[in-house]
Amino acid sequence: MSLMQVQSFVAGNWVTPSDGLAPLHSAFTGEVIGHTGTGAPDVMAMYRHALAHGGPALRAMSFHDRARMLKALAQYLSDRKAELYELSYLTGATKSDSWIDIDGGIGTMFVFASKGRREMPDSHVYLDGDVEMLSRGGSFVGQHVCTPLQGVAVHINAFNFPVWGMLEKLAPTLLAGMPAIVKPATVTGYLAEAAFRMILESGCLPDGAVQFVSGRLGPLLDELGPQDAVSFTGSADTALALRGTSNLLRNSVRFAAEQDSLNATILGDDVAVGDPEFDLFVKEVVTEITVKAGQKCTAVRRILVPEALRGAMAEALSARLAEVTLGDPRLKEVGMGALAGAGQKRDVLGACALFADEARCIIGGEAPELTGENLDGGAWVAPTIFDCADPDAATHLHEKEAFGPVACLMPYRDAGHAAVLANRGGGALVTSVVTRDPALAQRIVAASASHHGRLYFNNRDSMAEATGHGAPLPHMVHGGPGRAGGSEELGGIRAVKHYMQRTALQGPPALLSAAGETWLAGSPTHEGPAHPFRRRFGDLALGETLVTAPRRVTAADIAHFAEFTGDGFYAHTDAEAAAENPFFPGIVAHGYLLLSFAAGMFVDPAPGPVLANTGLNGLTFEKPVTPGTDITVHLTVKRKTRRTDEYGEVRWHVELRDHEDDLVARYELLTMVAI
Ligand code: NAP
Repeated sequence: MSLMQVQSFVAGNWVTPSDGLAPLHSAFTGEVIGHTGTGAPDVMAMYRHALAHGGPALRAMSFHDRARMLKALAQYLSDRKAELYELSYLTGATKSDSWIDIDGGIGTMFVFASKGRREMPDSHVYLDGDVEMLSRGGSFVGQHVCTPLQGVAVHINAFNFPVWGMLEKLAPTLLAGMPAIVKPATVTGYLAEAAFRMILESGCLPDGAVQFVSGRLGPLLDELGPQDAVSFTGSADTALALRGTSNLLRNSVRFAAEQDSLNATILGDDVAVGDPEFDLFVKEVVTEITVKAGQKCTAVRRILVPEALRGAMAEALSARLAEVTLGDPRLKEVGMGALAGAGQKRDVLGACALFADEARCIIGGEAPELTGENLDGGAWVAPTIFDCADPDAATHLHEKEAFGPVACLMPYRDAGHAAVLANRGGGALVTSVVTRDPALAQRIVAASASHHGRLYFNNRDSMAEATGHGAPLPHMVHGGPGRAGGSEELGGIRAVKHYMQRTALQGPPALLSAAGETWLAGSPTHEGPAHPFRRRFGDLALGETLVTAPRRVTAADIAHFAEFTGDGFYAHTDAEAAAENPFFPGIVAHGYLLLSFAAGMFVDPAPGPVLANTGLNGLTFEKPVTPGTDITVHLTVKRKTRRTDEYGEVRWHVELRDHEDDLVARYELLTMVAI
């Protein structure tokens, strides 16, 4: 294999590091496989290029344009991932480890692409929450909006997931409309570089949207401005050093930190040896220790079990871990590979030496038996379990992360004690609880949710489909308070908002409607040239409104509806009982009768551009309707979102009013309309 040379991608050009080269090693043989930069490329040229080209090009696109771009990019990477798998072995990763990194990263990008199209508008301004009524008459309202920051996102990634780590940050950043400068961790930066080259080759991204640093960041953090953002993943020590950069503090540059974490797992005290939950717990712990050789920020570090099960758990874990084959990650029979490098091995063994003061090592150590050839120079640490008799007295075990295949068994007395021990991590990414006891789930949430970014519950009912203690999902928040960095990543569109500014807009509805590209209640309306059901997606204009002829709601209608649907609730059928109810003057119409009448009043029935009614949001009944009331419907085009080349979604603001012009009911109607 020829030696690799990890380059930087600077202002549109690949650049070989000119000052200082460090050797890169295979994680499992120790052989030199290439070189990487140790100095900084021209980071200020990168910054200027991103500001001048990447940012404007991305912001000119709508959220949907960028979501489509991400989908095409994810597809491109997916078609070429075999090449990345080959390289990934050199990081010490087995095939299944690489699946988490490579397919996990690509999958994350697909999810953001899909959420971007489903949950964001096909425009440039994201509405954050509903309109706030700031005045009695409705002539002055409030609306929060999010727009992309106009600077550069600097991504500093950890070594353990070179592909996932890069893609899970790039997806929300690019969807938001910000360009990024990616700085991977040096030891596995060659895999990140290979994936980055594919991103460029895809041709999906505009010039300047992404750039890549091999080596250091030079003066970049000292030059960032208020529109920039830094997203860091790595150790708490590095995060502390970087987030304290005086320029970042001076300019209030957003600094998101995903740091290390002393995650725990709790076996419920309702579980006995032999229960499916006992075996599930053992399986999850073994997975957490061995996947990526324990180099996962979410891996279980502390194993909390009821005192009575400590011995049985020690035995079960030792037996299962003794069956794990270590060695050449390319071999099928190998279940755990090497750590990423010699430095990582040194750190893990250093942490183990501290743990030995507080607990007894029951399995593991430095010199495991290996399967494969030429492995002497690799960074090997065996799966290691400590057993701590007195976890209340321990400190290192709750504070020091051994970023490798190392965890510690700890007994707890009761649920309260388990929560206290879990919380001693000082803020963690995840704690899992294996239990069937709803009361325990409730107690752990009450006592420990504040200390965690994620709580994961599992038992026999969910285990076939559960996603795993250690798996951050793009849909759910990843991050944790305190020690874990105090930030959030992922969590769907929440992640995109990290790269946007939220602004409170206040003013007359007509102005705010224009700014947010969505008709807001109180804005002017106008009649269209034809019934809206005769108008195609492209013809309908925001604010275009149909006001129907009135329809009288009669006592016979209400009685018929009660009979026909079986909804004979007394408010619709028993005048005396209805009058006793504090909400009604006597018999009133069913809300669903009014909705049904409304459809009958605004629908134009013949086949036409309106294809389907796909839902209804935010229905409220505002005023009871008594027999003899005349109602009218006001149907207004609120927002349009193109979905395919054939149709788009039209959201309608629907109001039902009575003959006194009082609001009776209000909702948002969703339809698909032919383009
Ligand atoms: P690290 O040593 O803290 O390094 C993290 C990143 O910071 C690397 O890219 C590193 O680059 C860079 N860096 C270090 N010093 C820098 C400086 N002065 N200026 C700019 N960049 C600098 O962490 P790591 O060893 O790569 O990763 C392991 C740690 O990450 C573990 O503690 C793990 O728990 C944590 N982690 C957390 C999460 C999470 O989501 N919370 C995910 C994965 C990992 P170089 O490699 O070039 O030094």
